[in-house]
Amino acid sequence: MPLPKQRHSKARGRKRRTHWKIAKTSLAPCPQCKQPKLPHRVCGACGYYNGKQVIEIKVKEKKKKR
Ligand SMILES: [Zn+2]
Repeated sequence: MPLPKQRHSKARGRKRRTHWKIAKTSLAPCPQCKQPKLPHRVCGACGYYNGKQVIEIKVKEKKKKR
């Protein structure tokens, strides 16, 4: 088993990790309703995929004010 000869400083490890970033989620406009949606996924706003209605979108009922 390889074993590190010398310990890396905290700064060295942290400098390396400055490049660790999460990728931005890519959003593309839905061709049906122009709402931003994730690519290769059914549109959450209109339920269309590949020009067809795939799922029915239930309209959320507004909560009653107390
Ligand atoms: Zn849509």
